[in-house]
Amino acid sequence: MRIRSKLFYERALNSIPGGVNSPVRACKAVKSDPVFFEKGEGAYLIDVDGNRYIDYVCSWGPLILGHAHQEVIASVYFASKKGTSFGAPTWQEVELAELIKSCFPSIEKIRLVNSGTEATMSAIRLARAYTKRKKIIKFEGCYHGHVDSLLVKAGSGLATFGIPASPGIPEELTTHTLNLPFNNFEEIEKAFKEYGEEIAGIIVEPIAGNMGVILPKKGFLEFLREITQKYGALLIFDEVITGFRIGISGAQGKFGITPDLTCLGKIIGGGLPVGAYGGKSEIMSLVAPEGPVYQAGTLSGNPIAVSAGLATLKELIKPGTYEKLEAISQKLENGIKEVLKKLKLPYQVNRAGSMLTLFFTEKEVIDFKTALTSDTEKFAIFWQKMLEKGIYLPPSQFEAWFVSLAHGEKEIEKTIKIIYEVLKEMHQ
Ligand SMILES: *Cc1c(COP(=O)(O)O)cnc(C)c1O
Repeated sequence: MRIRSKLFYERALNSIPGGVNSPVRACKAVKSDPVFFEKGEGAYLIDVDGNRYIDYVCSWGPLILGHAHQEVIASVYFASKKGTSFGAPTWQEVELAELIKSCFPSIEKIRLVNSGTEATMSAIRLARAYTKRKKIIKFEGCYHGHVDSLLVKAGSGLATFGIPASPGIPEELTTHTLNLPFNNFEEIEKAFKEYGEEIAGIIVEPIAGNMGVILPKKGFLEFLREITQKYGALLIFDEVITGFRIGISGAQGKFGITPDLTCLGKIIGGGLPVGAYGGKSEIMSLVAPEGPVYQAGTLSGNPIAVSAGLATLKELIKPGTYEKLEAISQKLENGIKEVLKKLKLPYQVNRAGSMLTLFFTEKEVIDFKTALTSDTEKFAIFWQKMLEKGIYLPPSQFEAWFVSLAHGEKEIEKTIKIIYEVLKEMHQ
């Protein structure tokens, strides 16, 4: 029963558009009402009616240590006692910058902002300023926050120019965005042949997480590195999800690629609002006040948020962290695959480290088009039944499930058992 959730939702609808402060939370894609939460504990969420769930949303990625991790909570508490914001530099910002740099060799200088959206928006401004070019390539199904010029959908016919994906975005702002299929070498080659001299950069999620988890094809990221270098464009890795999730050096560390700029967010704030963009000194030195490219923020580098980020990263750099995360995530993947085999279901499981998606399709999912072959009606039923049995999954087929260090064998085994029950029920 979720009586209080229902009551809060009714009230919320009167005061907040759609009752939520970020659209996916409304659970429309799974034909449900949102669950209102009271608290989190490790791998668990507890809703306002007292129901308990194993959580695979983990605040959409930031909570890699699980909910209310002791070290993070302590750092937030002690930081807040000293004041909530100064609008002036603090030593914690220097520590966070140095720690991130020590993990990401491609980052020589870094600027902290308040969200992933701000990070990508600023990185694109910088790429355009540095190259003195206008066009940006992004990929269908990749999400880089709600930046006007990146909220595009594919145009019709041969046109690769993005058209606004939302009312309120003038076409003039998206005409410089080329929207190409992920993992498609030929289309990128074609775009550079045609517009090479005008392209400021490519922005890419090196492992896509916003159309469900999709891995880059072998050689894809290397290809992006080479072609951008050849044409004098910048390669921007949006590692807002993958940074500190795929490994201590993000996806760039895993694949051994050095991007020119990197966007970070989510995990580096430990559940508080922090984003960052960084890269080569030569490029970052253009950012104000060192250079002419304007970018600012009243609360940027906020001491409480930065302390939560620092506490999180300090846990993550301890030896064995990512091995543990990999082992537990592998167990979840194997378990789901065994269930699918037992029930003779042809669905796909894509996983990269502790991010995973179960796609309700027979097709191998390698890009947005193949992701869209998933049966979203089936996913909606699956999601609802999982919720009833105490498993909170991302309320959309096209999202990553996140495993945290708080998820143990017990939680994974329970999850697999429930997936078996639910899928069996659905396919009788
Ligand atoms: C979440 C996300 C963003 C946007 O971050 P916000 O903090 O929500 O603004 C940007 N890029 C990627 C890859 C993301 O997953």
